[in-house]
Amino acid sequence: MAYCDSTEDMNFDLTKREFRDTPRSRYDWPIPDSPSICVYGFSFTVDHAMICQRGDLILQRHNEIRDLEAELLDMVCYDLAIEPTLQPLAGEELNRGANTATDARLDEHSRGFWERQGAALFYTLVCHPNADSYKELSPKQIYKLHEDEKKRKYASRIISVQNGTFTPLALTTTGGMSQRYHSRLAELISTKKQEDYAIAIAWIRRKVSFAILRTALVCLRGKRSRRRQTNFQDNDLEIEKELAGLTKCF
Ligand SMILES: [Zn+2]
Repeated sequence: MAYCDSTEDMNFDLTKREFRDTPRSRYDWPIPDSPSICVYGFSFTVDHAMICQRGDLILQRHNEIRDLEAELLDMVCYDLAIEPTLQPLAGEELNRGANTATDARLDEHSRGFWERQGAALFYTLVCHPNADSYKELSPKQIYKLHEDEKKRKYASRIISVQNGTFTPLALTTTGGMSQRYHSRLAELISTKKQEDYAIAIAWIRRKVSFAILRTALVCLRGKRSRRRQTNFQDNDLEIEKELAGLTKCF
């Protein structure tokens, strides 16, 4: 991945419709040339488009962001793996609520993120902050809610079985993101590229925000007419479970 700011290299080009859809997706404005009712019978608003589980678009959104984060990690870490299967348990006692599945996966594995050679595992999740269940919460509270939940599921297993660190990363469909992970990433990139930290963090934020915008536009306009066959992974199932509480589409 190039570390520069040109529009072309950052892949910031939008079609005319995408350009017009951008404020609509942020402010829940009406969406022209789209069905008024979703295939499940719900009003097809922007808010619904961001959480409707028809057509695997939400899984695509997650996978796009996961792959971008993996590319960023690959710039500064080594031993990168996408969707690594966790090592099996061998009698370790984990906290209540921990994921003990033999085929449990996370989003990325790398070495050299928090410590020089230490293993680091990551979980990326994208949520829609305007969903009813978040009405009373600030963005910080939303990030914390999800990150704490993921820590309960994975942290003890990663620490005791994989001898690594676990870092959840929460992002929102409106371009928000939790700070800790990207701050560390910016430190590593700025050191490697001998650039100011401020430049590195701004570059990361732009890159990630734009990827989120693109995935939001896909959720807005993507085909939902037929569910495609997909090889669901354990991680995908987790996402489905998270979203089940946000929509009554099922
Ligand atoms: Zn729907």
